[in-house]
Amino acid sequence: MSTASFAPSKAHPVADLHCDTVMEIQAGVRLGAGNPLGHVDVPRMRAGGVGLQVFAAFVAQVTPFELAFRRAQEMLDAVESSVTQEGGALVLVHDKADLDRAQKEGRPGVMLAVENGHAIQKSLSKLIALHERGVRYLTLTHSGSLDWAGSSGDDSGRGLDDFGRKVVACMEEIGMLVDVSHVNEATFWDVARIARKPFIASHSNASALCPVARNLTDDQLRAVAASGGMVGINFFPGFLDPEHAALLEERVGDLFALYSTIEAGHEADPVARMEASREVTRTYQARMADSRVPLARVCEHIEHVTALVGDEAVGFGSDFDGVPDLPEGVTGCDVFPAILRMLEARGMPGRSLERIAWGNFERVFFEAR
Ligand SMILES: [Zn+2]
Repeated sequence: MSTASFAPSKAHPVADLHCDTVMEIQAGVRLGAGNPLGHVDVPRMRAGGVGLQVFAAFVAQVTPFELAFRRAQEMLDAVESSVTQEGGALVLVHDKADLDRAQKEGRPGVMLAVENGHAIQKSLSKLIALHERGVRYLTLTHSGSLDWAGSSGDDSGRGLDDFGRKVVACMEEIGMLVDVSHVNEATFWDVARIARKPFIASHSNASALCPVARNLTDDQLRAVAASGGMVGINFFPGFLDPEHAALLEERVGDLFALYSTIEAGHEADPVARMEASREVTRTYQARMADSRVPLARVCEHIEHVTALVGDEAVGFGSDFDGVPDLPEGVTGCDVFPAILRMLEARGMPGRSLERIAWGNFERVFFEAR
């Protein structure tokens, strides 16, 4: 019997469905040089066997309506410039041919997404324009409801309206994935009812293990799997562990409000925004320092999904550079081999590990289109 351990490599790379590293790039970070204050950079992508990282252009709810599309474009520009700047260390992936090339050359792929439907300014032509420049999924909402889709952050109780249904239909037609992370239950079930193609939750976890509004119930997980889509497991301790989540409200509730104030105050200045939010994050980490969530929690959420619906509907959606804290011992995207080894040691078969690390991403993003 082989004792060879599963570890990501060119043959078994890792895909991560969601990071917010664009904000780091806009603040002046060079990915190739390493970014010890952040979670994602080229050296750690290599060390972590990252074959594909989705970079989400996150348009904050506080962005004035008439500027939202421009802000998304600026973020996408920043990712593209960053890839160019790294002079071939990274490959911008728009289609399967790009992905295959990145794989063959052993270079990490960078894929574009947009987080928050606010970005399309209620315009299907703007949605189509995003797709044409390579955006592969749109997260319908962030933490505030839009008038066409409800968020879990302020649960308005509203689902998709007529325009919201048109957005979903248009996305399916042009081949862009619908991302239900952040939406409320009403919107989720509206998507599930009308979807004819696979849809995803790019960075959400299992409510059964950590019942917070951002996570998905078992019925929701079953619906994502039934569509042929997948869930990317989020590494934020507050979405992984219920005791930690309860402590957050008590100890750092005020800081979450502060992050929003910073977003609003520096809406047009990514450098000042990053400086101010790093300061808040230092306070956050100091207050939460004695509540460390073990990396095994990530494995437990993955195992919950595979036990519920099989191994074809789960992968990674770390939320790197979008969260103020990570599980114990985790500093960034070089952690994937440790997670895969832990899953293997806990009994996950090699075939399942390959699907979780890569195969499901490849199927959902390219084969099911
Ligand atoms: Zn998010």
